[in-house]
Amino acid sequence: MINYLYQEQNWQSQLSDLITDPSELLSLLELSSEQLLSGAILASEQFKLRVPRAFVGKMNTQNPFDPLLLQVLPHHLELEEHPEFVTDPLGEEAANQLPGVLHKYKSRFLLTLTGACAVHCRYCFRRHFPYQENLPKNEDWLNIKNYIEANPHINEIILSGGDPLTLSNRKLALWLERLSSLKQIKILRIHSRVPIVIPNRIDEELISLLKNSRLRIILVVHSNHASELDDFTCSKLLQLSAEHITVLNQAVLLKGVNDSAQTLIDLSYRLFEARVMPYYLHVLDKVKGAQHFDLESSEIDDIYRDVLANLPGYLVPKLVREIAGEKNKTPLFGATTF
Ligand SMILES: *Cc1c(COP(=O)(O)O)cnc(C)c1O
Ligand code: SF4
Repeated sequence: MINYLYQEQNWQSQLSDLITDPSELLSLLELSSEQLLSGAILASEQFKLRVPRAFVGKMNTQNPFDPLLLQVLPHHLELEEHPEFVTDPLGEEAANQLPGVLHKYKSRFLLTLTGACAVHCRYCFRRHFPYQENLPKNEDWLNIKNYIEANPHINEIILSGGDPLTLSNRKLALWLERLSSLKQIKILRIHSRVPIVIPNRIDEELISLLKNSRLRIILVVHSNHASELDDFTCSKLLQLSAEHITVLNQAVLLKGVNDSAQTLIDLSYRLFEARVMPYYLHVLDKVKGAQHFDLESSEIDDIYRDVLANLPGYLVPKLVREIAGEKNKTPLFGATTF
């Protein structure tokens, strides 16, 4: 384990000092394979390497199969073409009503305020999404407000990604204020991986912003493996639940990373120690460049059965797939369609 002093370093400086050079990452982890390096350099031309040092600090050295490393290290297999794996598997470009707004489900929509993430997850279904053309500018708020008011079923806004917690607290405060000025909005959800990869993002200012809002706040973090949840990360997550902020987790089922029942069981128990409830376990979206993380339906079925048989119901994440055009995420277990 590399011992960084990231616990004392503020999140802004961590965010401006990300690892983006494959050779630096591999040398920090004492991995000297030429093949890994050349594959990483090639694949990072399509989707750059980006990983915070605090997250690398949770990886084991000298292990090319470390489950955290596999999520972030560009790999030559990403460059292989596969007919089922495409650039917009969810048809999101079609659901894009206004800049920043992605409205597919009745009561809630995704609002993207930034295209930036603190970490580039290799399996991400948004790796090809044209963010820069789609971000709301200041003057777009009026259009978003009108859109919400014209859709009275909307009672929840989901800040999503990019990663909203890469934004400054000042900017978040501005949007919280805007959204809470609309009476019909009751719930604000934040989807973010930053608390896992830069735990110091959960700072006093953010906590006070969230706990003082009129809105019910739900933070949905994204952790795929118990090793991502070291004691320091858990202590930060516990600060949120201490302030009555609901914290949930979503994970993605990934070959080589967490494709065993025991790994998922350990993840659920570890989350619960941090008072985080497992929410979703997503099967991989068929996005171009992520085919090497894919599992057979029968493997998924076996793993999930085993998870169900070993965990109390409240620690079992819902196994779901996002299907373009559906009104909700599609539950998979017991379904005939996967
Ligand atoms: C996943 C998702 C949501 C949130 O769905 P929940 O089931 O409420 O968690 C909302 N909008 C879009 C477009 C989504 O992909
Ligand atoms: S949107 Fe989430 S999954 Fe995708 S790269 Fe950003 S942090 Fe990773």
